[in-house]
Amino acid sequence: MTIYQNLIAGEWTGADAVENINPSDTKEVVGLYASGSAADTRNAIAAAKAAFPAWSHSGIWERHVILKKAGDEIMARKDELGALLAREEGKTLPEAIGETIRASQIFEFFAGEALRLAGEVVPSVRPNIGVEITREPLGVIGIITPWNFPIAIPAWKIAPALCYGNTIVFKPAELVPGCSWAIVDILNRAGLPKGVLNLVMGKGSIVGQTMLDSPDLAGITFTGSVGTGKRVAVSSIEHNRKIQLEMGGKNPMVILDDADLSVAVEAAANSAFFSTGQRCTASSRLIVTEGIHDRFVAAMTEKLKTLNVDHALKTGTHIGPVVDERQLKTDTDYIEIGKNEGAKLAFGGELIARDTPGFYLQPTLFTEATNQMRISREEIFGPVASVIRVKDYEEALAVANDTPFGLSSGIATTSLKHATHFKRNAEAGMVMVNLPTAGVDFHVPFGGRKGSSYGSREQGKYAAEFFTTVKTAYTLA
Ligand code: NAD
Repeated sequence: MTIYQNLIAGEWTGADAVENINPSDTKEVVGLYASGSAADTRNAIAAAKAAFPAWSHSGIWERHVILKKAGDEIMARKDELGALLAREEGKTLPEAIGETIRASQIFEFFAGEALRLAGEVVPSVRPNIGVEITREPLGVIGIITPWNFPIAIPAWKIAPALCYGNTIVFKPAELVPGCSWAIVDILNRAGLPKGVLNLVMGKGSIVGQTMLDSPDLAGITFTGSVGTGKRVAVSSIEHNRKIQLEMGGKNPMVILDDADLSVAVEAAANSAFFSTGQRCTASSRLIVTEGIHDRFVAAMTEKLKTLNVDHALKTGTHIGPVVDERQLKTDTDYIEIGKNEGAKLAFGGELIARDTPGFYLQPTLFTEATNQMRISREEIFGPVASVIRVKDYEEALAVANDTPFGLSSGIATTSLKHATHFKRNAEAGMVMVNLPTAGVDFHVPFGGRKGSSYGSREQGKYAAEFFTTVKTAYTLA
């Protein structure tokens, strides 16, 4: 079998490889992917450092052309790349193609942004002096990504890093190297100079840790768990390095008595269970006021009966498998924890056998949960959600905000008053009214507050905050 290698200083390299396994069919090996060493990582950092002076002064048209080419190729290959994504991560084919289209759109967006780089010219407070404020590239950026969005998250970090003139050492998650390899191959063929984008696939404890220990990374943009995010933060203070961290969530979805029941059920089912619940913006706390509670639970239970859990590539599958055995164990452990804490299992909770051996778990809904239970406080990252019954809007808002996280927050209501109040008072980076907590646009800021995020926002033009540094120049006229 071919080994998909690492790209270091413009050369494909690496003989040590690991199998990329399909969670819908564990007998299927998606491919063999290189597993880099600490020395590989140091070489990649050195290559990115050497490439920085030229790339940081490259023309904006060159950057535009490369980013545009990459976006166009990803779009042209959306079905093939979507199928690769579905095979390595387990989300359904339509979800995977949708994510691939989004990756393409992100490259197109930043291809445009490359042509819109601008600064400010302002008067000095002193006579005969001019002041210019410009943005310059940061330097070598370390990019560390999780497994749950194998193509979109790499895209939304790589595209702005290149757009603003940075060079990159990119380390994708071990479970899903395929889409990352494909993006790097596309960009490499699109004409990036050697060393501008280096790919080092491999273990977090080796490749990731070597990046954290390096004094040569000017910034690290990380998406993943809270625990790893904290390691990135601590190591970065020591190196005086800029960081952007996107971490976990325990996102609430409030359902008020006046909600349109079908809107509420569609939004809640999507938020909690689509992409197998493996989204940082997934809602796992459904906070429901008492007047609609029983109708909502009954309608949700009926809805869950209609969702097919099966092979990600099969037509008609609504929910793919859990990503791997370890995540499946976490999910089933939390289901036991929920039962032991006194929550009522209203639907699901069981593993399912399908035609192919995979990590299939029923969508699982608890009712009679409280916000103090571990299943309501800790991120599970699987198809498991709980209904928390509350008296009224005021209690719903208080419970929604009573969490260490603050990524996304949703409400289902027909009341303009409550929707407006919720938008202003939800302690989250993103608020959704009558929409799922997950599912965002590619051209506007993405990120959260409290334990979910640290540093400036990702995506849209707000990405410039992280990927550039500001310079103020004074000139005597
Ligand atoms: P993880 O923290 O285990 O891994 C993330 C990345 O960090 C991987 O590439 C991993 O190899 C690397 N890593 C591991 N140990 C490292 C170390 N010592 N030094 C440097 N890098 C290291 O997270 P995961 O399990 O891949 O992803 C799931 C988590 O990601 C969930 O908590 C989820 O909420 C979060 N997530 C957040 C967002 C967001 O935008 N907020 C988006 C997607 C996923």
